Amino acid sequence: MSITRRTLLVGAGAGAVGLLLAACTPEPKPAPTRTKTPGPRPTAPAGVPEPAGWVRSTWTRDPYSLGAMSYLPAGADPGERERLAEPVLGRVFFAGEATDTANPGTVIGAVDAARRAALALIGEADESERIAVVGAGVAGMVTARMLADAGLDVTVLEARDRLGGRIRSDADDDTWPIAPQLGAWLLGKDELDALTHRLIDISDRTLTLDDATGWTAEGEAPTVDGAPIAEALQRAETQASDVPIIDALTANGADPEDPALAASLAWMAAITGADPARASSWYAPEFPSGAVHGVIGDLDSFLHDHLDGIDVTTASPVVRVAYDERGVSLRLGTGEALSYDRVVVTAPLGVLQKQGIEFAPALPFSHRGAISALASGFVETVWMRFDEAFWETEATVWHVIGGDALIRTWLNLQPFTGEPVLVGLVGGAAAEQFAELNERDAAVAARASLVFFAPSDEDEG
Ligand SMILES: Cc1cc2nc3c(=O)[nH]c(=O)nc-3n(C[C@H](O)[C@H](O)[C@H](O)COP(=O)(O)OP(=O)(O)OC[C@H]3O[C@@H](n4cnc5c(N)ncnc54)[C@H](O)[C@@H]3O)c2cc1C
Repeated sequence: MSITRRTLLVGAGAGAVGLLLAACTPEPKPAPTRTKTPGPRPTAPAGVPEPAGWVRSTWTRDPYSLGAMSYLPAGADPGERERLAEPVLGRVFFAGEATDTANPGTVIGAVDAARRAALALIGEADESERIAVVGAGVAGMVTARMLADAGLDVTVLEARDRLGGRIRSDADDDTWPIAPQLGAWLLGKDELDALTHRLIDISDRTLTLDDATGWTAEGEAPTVDGAPIAEALQRAETQASDVPIIDALTANGADPEDPALAASLAWMAAITGADPARASSWYAPEFPSGAVHGVIGDLDSFLHDHLDGIDVTTASPVVRVAYDERGVSLRLGTGEALSYDRVVVTAPLGVLQKQGIEFAPALPFSHRGAISALASGFVETVWMRFDEAFWETEATVWHVIGGDALIRTWLNLQPFTGEPVLVGLVGGAAAEQFAELNERDAAVAARASLVFFAPSDEDEG
C-alpha cells in the first residue's frame, strides 16, 4: 500500500481556507472538547474513584461517521438497502454496511456489501479502467482489494488521516493492558466464523464474555433477557402496520419503564445502535444473546494488508461526485478535481444523510428515498482503567437495572487482563446524550453509572 497524505492548505487562497478547513474537519480526538451540556450537570458519585485513565468514542458527532450503524425505523423495509445499493448509470456504486440486507450494521455486512459492489463493478468495467474508492473502512478496503485483483487501477480516497473507519483500536497507548477499541470489536460466534471464512482468522486473538449479571441498588440480580421483547415483536408481526419497538411492547402489555426491561432495551441499543422509540418492530434488530467475543489487539491493522500495492490517499475528503454515462469527476476538500471511470462510495449513511458528499446530478429519487428512509443509529464506548477494583463481581457483562445511569452496559475486563479495566457501552438516544457531554461531564456520567457497584458505607464499616 502506498499512503499519501494531502497537504491541505498549500495553494489555498485566503477565502478558500475557511471552506477547506470545514471540509477537512479532523477526526475528533479523545481530548477535552467544548460542547453544550444537556440537562443538569452530572455530579461525581461517592464510592466510584476517578479512573487512572479513560478514553471514549464520539462517533455520533464525528463528521465522517455521524452515527455508529444503520437500522430500519418503523415504516421502512429492507428493500431500502437494496435501492441504495443499486449502481447509478453503471458509474457510481455504493458499498458499506448500510447497503447489506443480511447483516447490516456490522463488519460482516460491510464485507459482504463490498463484495457485492466490487463484483457488480467488475462486471461493467474494461480492463485497467481507473476506479476511485471513497472511504478506507472495511468496505472500502475489501472493495479496493477485489478491484485491484481484477486488474483495475484503484485509488482509495479517505477523509481521515487514518484507515479503518468505524474500526478503531487505540494501540499506541501502552498504559492499557489491551488496546482500547473505540469502534467495532465485539462479535458473536457466527460472526467470528463468518469473518474467518470471508476475510481473516482472528479467533485466537479474542476474549470471550460469557457470564452476565444484572445489578440493582440492592446488589446482584438476574441478568436481563430478551423474552418480553421477543413476545412483543411476535405479536407486532401480526398487526396491520409497523410500529416502533416501544409501542409494540406497550401494545403487548409490557412497561418499557420497567427497570429490567429498560436495561434489556439499553443492551439491545448498545449493540445495534437502534433506538427502540424509532426502530421497526417488523424488522427489529436481534436481541444480543449468548457469548460475545471481543477482539484483542490492533484490529484495524489486521485489515491493512488488504491495501497492499494500492494507492491510498488519506486526509482527502471527497466533497462532490459529478457523474454521467462516460465517467466520474471527484472534488476533494482541497478543491482538487480528479477524474475516474467509476467510483465506489462507502461513506456511512450518516454522511450521506447530512449531504457530506454532493452528487451532481442529484442521485435518483429511489436512492434519495432510501437514504432518508434508513436510520443512523448511535453507539458510544468508554474505556476506564482504575488503580484498583472497587467492585466485587467476577461477571464479565454487567447490566445496570434501575437508577438513572446513562450507561447501562459494562464489560469487566479484569478477569482477562488482571487489571481493573471496565468498558461502558451506550446506544440509541442515551448515546446521543452521552456524545453531547464535554469530557469532564462525560467522565462524571460514566462514574455515576457505576454507582451500584461501589461499596456501600455498611460494607466499608
Ligand atoms: C461504537 C461502535 C461499535 C460497533 N460495534 C460493532 C461490533 O461489535 N460488531 C460489528 O460487527 N460491528 C460493529 N460496529 C459497526 C461496524 O463498525 C460497521 O458496520 C463497519 O465497520 C462499517 O464499515 P464500512 O466500511 O461500511 O464504514 P466505515 O468503517 O465507516 O468506513 C467508511 C469510511 O469512509 C470515510 N469517509 C466518510 N466520508 C468520507 C468522504 N466524504 N470522503 C472520503 N472518505 C470518507 C470514513 O472516514 C471511513 O473511513 C460498531 C460501530 C461502532 C461505531
